[in-house]
Amino acid sequence: MSQRLRTLVVHAGEHREGGAVAAPTYRSSTYALGEPESFDDIRYIRLNNTPTQQAAEAKLAALEAGDALVTPSGTAAVWLALNACVQPGEHVLAPARVYGGTRKILDHLTEREGVEVTYVDLSRPETWESARRPNTRAFFCETIANPWMSVPPLQEIVAFARRHGLVSLIDNTLATPVLYRPREHGFDVVVHSASKHLNGHSDVVAGAIIAAPERLRAIRVHANRLGICPDPEACALLVRGMKTLPLRVGAQCDAAMTLARWLDAHAEVDAVCFPGLPGDPSHARATELLDGFGTMLSFTPSGGERRARALIASLRLPIEAPSLGGVETLVSRPATTSHAGLPAELRRSMGVDDAMIRVSVGVEDPDDLIADFEAALAESALADAAE
Ligand SMILES: *Cc1c(COP(=O)(O)O)cnc(C)c1O
Repeated sequence: MSQRLRTLVVHAGEHREGGAVAAPTYRSSTYALGEPESFDDIRYIRLNNTPTQQAAEAKLAALEAGDALVTPSGTAAVWLALNACVQPGEHVLAPARVYGGTRKILDHLTEREGVEVTYVDLSRPETWESARRPNTRAFFCETIANPWMSVPPLQEIVAFARRHGLVSLIDNTLATPVLYRPREHGFDVVVHSASKHLNGHSDVVAGAIIAAPERLRAIRVHANRLGICPDPEACALLVRGMKTLPLRVGAQCDAAMTLARWLDAHAEVDAVCFPGLPGDPSHARATELLDGFGTMLSFTPSGGERRARALIASLRLPIEAPSLGGVETLVSRPATTSHAGLPAELRRSMGVDDAMIRVSVGVEDPDDLIADFEAALAESALADAAE
């Protein structure tokens, strides 16, 4: 990669046809056949080979060092990547603490596709060997695991996978290529929810898979057969969003650091999960592996679930909504959003406290955010005392 990220996001994959500085959106579902007429000459949106999607894929390919496929959602990306890499009867290692939607996909693979899954503690590499089986085929992980914001020993995962001939897959949604480029560190397959930071404006649902050309080709064939394809409009918005990815993520990381420090020092905050804090269990690893500490944090106010609800209700700037990575700060309680689909017992065993508040830090001025959290912490304390 000769050009730097901030240059690549602006210029990679841009054809500038007809002198257009910003690429037009090609909505055409089908394209005139040229000579010679073979199946591969057919251009059709469902075959994942039309110009606006290709523009988004070329930009992603430059950022994540591999060939790219844009998918209609991050969920579709996780599903396709796993489904293309693992056959019925094969076995997958996956984190016990994993994105709730991915957990549901893994459950589906177990129940319906005859795939075996063992959930491992990514922070204890000494336990992985005993979880491995003769039919183990893949090791799935996430760069930053939400809502704990933990960073696993990524190089040990790559080394373990290589040693045992496993496909290594990583969900890089929270880190983005700004903080970590998994393929440069030896991961085979990268997946993204492009609905989050890559687009960054909370107005697109899309996903992406990046892999070596041959593997990506196989995944693309799989997508074409199943009719899994993004809409050109989503691809065009994704292209536009990606141009400011490093600027947004840089500002969001700085603001998250500022807010995390402030919350950590607050007397009525019991715990803060953010790898940028020196006391965080992932601090050393994040410092070593990532080019930043991320845009997300979680914290637990004292006073339990009721206080957490009152606090969220008192916030004026952050919007209570699921999802993350947009320019506006969002808050949610993982117990009722990302992990709501799981049985309460499983959720608690995964360390998701009912009072935990997750913050996806936007690009607002961090001083305004702090003032708002300060007022909300005070108001929610008063509300609690009044009852
Ligand atoms: C949101 C998310 C997904 C799913 O993406 P969608 O675009 O909502 O389908 C997958 N992994 C992670 C880490 C996510 O945050």
